[in-house]
Parts: sequence; structure tokens; C-alpha cells
Amino acid sequence: MQVPLLDLKAQYATIKDEVLAKINQVLDSQRCIGGPLIEELEKAIAQLSGCKFAVGVSSGTDALLASLMALNIGSGDEVITTPFTFFATAGSIHRTGATPVFVDINPKTYNIDVSRIEAAVTKRTKAIMPVHLFGQMADMDPIMAVAKKHSLAVIEDAAQAISSAYKGKKAGQMGTCGCFSFFPSKNLGGIGDGGMVVTNDEKFNHQLVLMRNHGMEPKYYHHFVGGNFRLDPIQAAALLVKLPHLDNWSQARRNNAAYYDKKFKGTPVMTPYISPDCVSIYNQYVIRVPKRDEVVKHLQASGIGCEIYYPVPMHLQKCFASLGYKAGSFPEAEKACREVMALPIYPELTDEMQDYVAQTILNFVS
Ligand SMILES: *Cc1c(COP(=O)(O)O)cnc(C)c1O
Repeated sequence: MQVPLLDLKAQYATIKDEVLAKINQVLDSQRCIGGPLIEELEKAIAQLSGCKFAVGVSSGTDALLASLMALNIGSGDEVITTPFTFFATAGSIHRTGATPVFVDINPKTYNIDVSRIEAAVTKRTKAIMPVHLFGQMADMDPIMAVAKKHSLAVIEDAAQAISSAYKGKKAGQMGTCGCFSFFPSKNLGGIGDGGMVVTNDEKFNHQLVLMRNHGMEPKYYHHFVGGNFRLDPIQAAALLVKLPHLDNWSQARRNNAAYYDKKFKGTPVMTPYISPDCVSIYNQYVIRVPKRDEVVKHLQASGIGCEIYYPVPMHLQKCFASLGYKAGSFPEAEKACREVMALPIYPELTDEMQDYVAQTILNFVS
């Protein structure tokens, strides 16, 4: 049996006609930049996230970068974040000229260890950038408390966590802003690159709207140097067709996660820990196993897709060598990099496929 890590064709087959019709709407109108579909998507995602405003942007990476720029964060500033994330989190901080300051992770949730954040705050700290990794939100209450005490902005990297919840609040709702990615492998994936920033802060929203379009208002009058961070209306068309399915797809992922959890109970496979405060959208189902690299090889040889998110923590990336961190700086993040692996969890996965994945792992580790 072949079980891919993700099967986008299975999902597309269920919505193909609608997607094509909506894309045709854009083509027939020839509103190829901005336009009503972008606004419709922004409204819908603001509402979904419990936010007043949403700004469509060109990618999740640009959502983070434009948000930092809109907060005027740059050279000489520090932003506190996690070393166990996709590169864009730390990369966007660095690209503004600011310095990413890493804090180790909580080994149960893989999210930033909130008990260590305050010790990392200095006079230069301007913001905290928590990441809601694998679809589960970070422990936001203590993060917001430190932010309030030291007057810091909070940029939620919610690229993997659209519509995820913490104590009844949605990803992006509690911080200064929340950043989503529509990369095709995210729970709400476009047909190319795309992203969105949600916020309840009117002033920040205005800055971001200008930042997305070269700091321009009105046309050809530039208040500051922004960029072209615009979302493509063809992406908005596809995303508007997919959005009504998002809750069902995330629920199907939770059901699949529960099915794996049962299979792995009482075995050497450590299943994901979801805090009772959180509802995860399981962008990834990440386990810890002994002899991880051998298990990965065994699964690949058995026709099963799996992936290591992430093999190298940010503080040990070559491009950040000048920050001066060493092996041992963040032991929990480093340990996670050695032990974790992600299994197929996409909504269309069948019980038979999951049985095969679980059995193949258990045959090896038991
Ligand atoms: C996917 C991802 C991003 C970047 O999103 P893109 O749309 O690929 O630019 C940023 N942060 C995290 C945690 C991600 O998973």
C-alpha cells in the first residue's frame, strides 16, 4: 500500500468544478490585482479569527515580514521567538535588521516555553513572536502578560494554525496580529503562495494596508518604504471555495489523530500532547520514536510518506552562526530535532491507510 504524507489531488477532486468556475470569474472580470474576491476572503477570515481586520498578503513569510515592518521593528531591536519552527519565523525577523532572540521549547507541546520568556527581555526587545506549531496554539495568557508588562507587540506565527483555539479564543485574536499562510500544505491551502494577517488594532491595520503596497497613500505618495506584498485574486478565488470546508477538514484531521492515538497507546511511540486549553487543527501529527532515523527509512521503504519537522533548530542554522549560539544552547529544541517525525494526517486518509502506517511503525519499534 502507498500512503503519501499529503494527497492534495484527493481534496481537489471534491471541489474541482467550483474552483475552476471561481477562477474563471477572476479571468472574465480581468480584475487581476485586488478586487472583490480579496475583500470577501479578508472579511471571512477576519470573522473566522474573531478579528475586526484582515489583510491578504503574498505569503505566510510576507505576513510576518510586513507585520514586523508595520510595527517599525528593525535594526537594533530584538524579537523573542522559538528555535523550533519553520525558517520563515526567524528569517523574517533577521530581514528587518532586528535580532531574533531564541527561547527553548516546552517538550510536551513543542511551543515556546513561556516560563523562560521574561528572562530574555532586554531594553531592546520590541516583540514576542510565538509560533502555534503543528496546529496547536502556544500558551498565550502568560505570553500576553509578559508583553503587557514590558509593552511588547505580539506577532502570532499562526501559519500552521488557522482557526485553532486556545481558551475559546482563535489564533490571531489575542496578539497584536496573527499571520496565516496559504501554502498548499497548510490546512487552508491555496493553489500557490498566499497569506493573511488578522488584527483587532485599527492603527496597525492601516499601517499594514499601506505596507502591502509600497507605503503608498494616495497613489504615488509614499509615507514609508513598503513592498509589493499583495495577495493574488486567483488565490482568493480558490481559497473562497475551500474555506467553507475548513472546519470539516480540520475535524477529519482530529478524528484521524484520535485513531492513531488509540493505536499507539501503551507502545514506545509518543503521541502528540494537546493541552486541555487548546483545540488543535493538526496541521501535522508529530510523534517521538526511539531510533527515529531508522523508523523514517523503514516507513519510506514501505511506501509511507513521512517528514521531519524540523531536523535543525534555528539557533544552529549556518546563516545564524553570528548570533553566537552553540549546540546545547536549547536542549529541548535540539532533542526534538533528533526525535520527532510527522505521519500522514490529511483529511481524506482512510482507516486502512492508518492501520497500515501504525502497524508498519509498531512492527519496527515493538
Ligand atoms: C509555512 C510557514 C511559514 C511560511 O509560510 P509561507 O506561506 O510558506 O511563506 C511561516 N511560519 C511557519 C511556522 C510555517 O509553518
